[in-house]
Amino acid sequence: MKVGIVGSGMVGSAAGYALALRGGASEVVFVDYKPALAAAQAEDVAHAVPFAHPCKVRAGDYDALEGAGVVILAAGVPQKPGESRLSLLARNAEVFSGVVGQVVKAAPDAILLVASNPVDIMTEIALRASGLPPHRVIGSGTVLDTARFRSLLGEHLGIAAQSVHAYVLGEHGDSEVLVWSSARAGTEGVERFASHIGVPLTQEVRARIDEGVRRAAYRIIEGKGATWYGIGAGLARIVQAIRDDQRSVQSCSIVTPDFMGVGDVALSLPRVIGREGILMTLDPEISPDEAAALRRSAEVLRETSASLG
Ligand code: ADP
Repeated sequence: MKVGIVGSGMVGSAAGYALALRGGASEVVFVDYKPALAAAQAEDVAHAVPFAHPCKVRAGDYDALEGAGVVILAAGVPQKPGESRLSLLARNAEVFSGVVGQVVKAAPDAILLVASNPVDIMTEIALRASGLPPHRVIGSGTVLDTARFRSLLGEHLGIAAQSVHAYVLGEHGDSEVLVWSSARAGTEGVERFASHIGVPLTQEVRARIDEGVRRAAYRIIEGKGATWYGIGAGLARIVQAIRDDQRSVQSCSIVTPDFMGVGDVALSLPRVIGREGILMTLDPEISPDEAAALRRSAEVLRETSASLG
């Protein structure tokens, strides 16, 4: 499957690199409004191909996206000194709307995979600008937060992250909700399993893991300016689920007409991903406290979206 990547910065190039290493695409096309950057990323990633799986990697204009099955949207403008978050968001929204229009014109059958932040809001903007149905405009949402949660829980419990079934839902951001109540280690609830093996999930342990997940991006940004490898791998994982019609369950974001009484909000829930995009949304088992936090997260997103007008 041909995969387009619009925005060939750190996140876009990491996604292309992860796709090449995983064998997630037969062709990757980098697009950027700086063509020299797109060309350089394509050449660099192409040099990884002989060590990985066959894949044609090139750069091009929007026309080169024709026939793509998925287009990853990773374009964004950096914050100006002293610029408010809302002003940055408004500028990004404008850039994004223009990008989406051009992508849909060139590749009308592509599923859009939104990576630009704030990803839930950008997913809503992409949906409106594209005219596509909501199940074909997917935001990476909390796919990475979920991976971080599983990784820290697995570390604490001494089992592989892949054997931890746990989700982070809601906003990809400060109000996100770590769902402890239905988290499982293999077949067993994590709380029972943790006590059983002598590493109980005390308040301190939970707070440490919560902080580890919720503040991860802040820590990485402090150390290296931005995050890209984790999200790049998460994007490649979603692309593979689409390409192979895997029907795998991932926490990702689409516009949801009514979530607990909050209308038309893009947020992450466990969703089944296949060839046609989001095939189904699961109704997670959550405690009343988690449900309240999740509703609050939906409200935060709705308020941010409303403030954009
Ligand atoms: P991130 O860390 O999110 O990847 P970057 O700044 O590294 O952020 O990447 C964002 C990329 O989006 C940049 O390469 C930038 O040139 C690109 N970009 C910005 N506006 C547009 C646009 N209108 N069309 C295509 N690419 C764009």
